[in-house]
Amino acid sequence: MLEGKTAFVTGGSRGIGAAIVRKLAAAGAAVTFTYNSSPDAARAVAEAAGNGAQAVRLDLADADAVAAAVRGLPKLDILVNNAGTFELASVAEATLAAFDRMFAVNVRAVVAAVLEAAKIIPDGGRIITVGSINGEAVPFPGGAFYAGSKGAVRMLTKGWARDLGERGVTVNVVQPGPIDTDLNPADGPFGAVLTGMTALKRYGKPEDVAELVAFLAGPAGGNITGAALITDGGMTA
Ligand code: NDP
Repeated sequence: MLEGKTAFVTGGSRGIGAAIVRKLAAAGAAVTFTYNSSPDAARAVAEAAGNGAQAVRLDLADADAVAAAVRGLPKLDILVNNAGTFELASVAEATLAAFDRMFAVNVRAVVAAVLEAAKIIPDGGRIITVGSINGEAVPFPGGAFYAGSKGAVRMLTKGWARDLGERGVTVNVVQPGPIDTDLNPADGPFGAVLTGMTALKRYGKPEDVAELVAFLAGPAGGNITGAALITDGGMTA
């Protein structure tokens, strides 16, 4: 399905990003993915994914480095902005430093990558960002910065879809509900409560998100752009 395509995935060493790397490589894409603090995990993902998947170290808090990494790609058909961070901070104890940390990785790195990608991606290319259902609603206290960052990428996506539409480049955001990763483990403190909030009484898996990303990346996704697609077990139903 993705034979001959080249993909760049941020945060592929663990969790959702690792599943996206495996799925895109299995579909035939040549995948380069980034890691930051988990080199051993990144190596294991590259080996398991096969098809020549390559890991490169990149601190997404450094927007100049992100731009340079995308600019240096020999070819780019599919950009997947997956990496993100999450910190709880209610308004009483929140700091501007925490805001800056969250927005640097969840928003500024995405902007840096897309501005460079737009220069090199061919007609018909794909830009996909992993947002969150918290880009639409915040069903718990302390999530303002995270939700703000995910709402920002949702609206940036819609704007970029308009900018790049005439070239046939699609730009979409995938918004997961709870997914079993290190960031939000199913057996963690919120796992049972979050499962109970879904319609399916099912905690999501990284592969659920990877399937949706691969669909958007492939030919079947050609008429979808500016969309925010939810995979959340019906949590927002
Ligand atoms: P994980 O914490 O499991 O993995 C995060 C990945 O991002 C790792 O590969 C990590 O690399 C990378 N990363 C984090 N910070 C940086 C940084 N500063 N520089 C470079 N790489 C970084 O997270 P998930 O897989 O759960 O999350 C992936 C995306 O999905 C995020 O955008 C998150 O907001 C979103 N999401 C997750 C949900 C969930 O329930 N899990 C729900 C909704 C959205 P390394 O380990 O090498 O540093």
